[in-house]
Amino acid sequence: MLDNVKHIILILSGKGGVGKSTISTQIALTLLEKGYKVGLLDIDLCGPSIPYLLQLENCDVHQSDNGWIPVYTNVSQNLAVMSIGFLLNNRNNAVVWRGPKKTAMVKQFLTDVHWGDLDYLIIDTPPGTSDEHITVMENLKNVKCDGAIIVTTPQQMSIEDVRKEITFCKKTGINIIGLIENMSGFVCPHCTECTNVFSKGGGESLASLAHIPFLGSLPIDPRVGELLGKACVKELSGSTSAQFFDKIIDNLVK
Ligand code: ADP
Repeated sequence: MLDNVKHIILILSGKGGVGKSTISTQIALTLLEKGYKVGLLDIDLCGPSIPYLLQLENCDVHQSDNGWIPVYTNVSQNLAVMSIGFLLNNRNNAVVWRGPKKTAMVKQFLTDVHWGDLDYLIIDTPPGTSDEHITVMENLKNVKCDGAIIVTTPQQMSIEDVRKEITFCKKTGINIIGLIENMSGFVCPHCTECTNVFSKGGGESLASLAHIPFLGSLPIDPRVGELLGKACVKELSGSTSAQFFDKIIDNLVK
């Protein structure tokens, strides 16, 4: 039930492991810190990582007369989370489903979860353009969706796959909010020199070629992954990563 959700944002990537779930979670946490009511929906059915990232792995989803009640984090009742991970008995269980079953599950996440009043719903999708993406697009047709943020790393392999994501968005009529280049260099915590481990700038030039906004580069920052479980972006305060997420949110809410 998305009736009382003001903004919906999809997070997409061409490849797995580029930091899509990390960025979805950080965006949700930064919005939360700025006082918004936020929902985080994980539709990566075969590799749900949001429960792990937020240390909610042992939480259960409950049924109510209004539908499924999402899991609320310990930190705040203003962050509602839903993931297939909450419906599996064991984290190591594999979801071996064909398309129609996946489609039905994603549809249920969009129609049967009682999100309540939300300012933002962030949807973390699987990599690529599969059944899950098509189902989301179909079900969001009649709902106001702000658009998609695409995540890539600077490597050529990831950039190439992002082109497919851009084509997918254009074909399905979804607005592209912009592109993020993640793992864009490593800033030494001692001397603050930046080493471009995987080259740099590929995301920005692709964004310019494809005429889509470039939202910025996030360097490799070990704290970005470490702090997620504690749901405390405050500890990133003042760092390049914190400034990066502040800029992303300023862009979203303007
Ligand atoms: P995806 O959702 O694209 O598969 P994840 O968000 O699960 O990728 O990220 C993969 C791994 O990379 C995780 O261990 C995560 O903590 C780490 N990671 C992602 N972005 C960064 C970053 N900017 N700095 C450090 N580690 C990162």
